[in-house]
Amino acid sequence: MSSNTDFLLAVEDLTVSFDGFKAVDGLTFYVDENEIRVIIGPNGAGKTTVLDLICGRTKASSGSIKYRDRELTDMREHQIVHAGVGRKFQNPSIYEDLTVFENLEISFPRGRTVFGALAFKRDAEVIDRVEEVAESIFLADQLNRRAELLSHGQKQWLEIGMLLIQEPELLMLDEPVAGMSVAERIKTAELLNRIASNRSMLVIEHDMKFVEDIAHKVTVLHQGKKLSEGSMEAVQADPKVIEVYLGH
Ligand code: ADP
Ligand code: MG
Repeated sequence: MSSNTDFLLAVEDLTVSFDGFKAVDGLTFYVDENEIRVIIGPNGAGKTTVLDLICGRTKASSGSIKYRDRELTDMREHQIVHAGVGRKFQNPSIYEDLTVFENLEISFPRGRTVFGALAFKRDAEVIDRVEEVAESIFLADQLNRRAELLSHGQKQWLEIGMLLIQEPELLMLDEPVAGMSVAERIKTAELLNRIASNRSMLVIEHDMKFVEDIAHKVTVLHQGKKLSEGSMEAVQADPKVIEVYLGH
């Protein structure tokens, strides 16, 4: 039996098996309010599956995921989004043929469908919010550009913006700086540190310099299990972690 917690997110004894193979195996971890938690681990460790379980894309075989003391394993994907959990996938899912402005506007919570969002009046509130988010994702001067013309890094920022406009209290990002230039990685770290002031984040990342720049705490996954957890320094010095990384 899991009990109520003070954590924003409490994952306890979480397990999922695919045809008998346990991709996530008895995983327990807790994320605080305003915390940036980074999950690292070798390929196939189960990192993406953890995010799939939290956002309701994959059903847990057993265990519990509590978000603000609400059990997420019983909820549907859209209910989980509505509860305040936003998730960015590895590849940006933006509308290539729409402008930056329109992509953000569509994501504003009042617009239910693409059609409805485009048809409703662009009142001052929406415009203000779109401009505010565009500023924070370094795209204030790109508002009228078609999304397909953005760089890969700018597309990643746009998708983060599309999540931010919905004001999630838990934001989950799967390898957000993959394929970015060094300059873009530095700006992304700055962005995530800035937006963590009023939300928590769960980030999967391989780039250790980037992890160092953002992580409050690191959880290391290996074969679906938690191998180590703590500060970046503590985790990097853990012999179990060194062994797994040298072994790959
Ligand atoms: P990571 O993100 O750490 O690289 P994943 O979570 O994507 O790892 O995958 C963990 C393991 O689970 C891998 O061996 C993968 O092949 C397997 N896996 C993930 N999703 C499924 C699925 N839907 N069906 C079967 N196996 C899966
Ligand atoms: Mg993955």
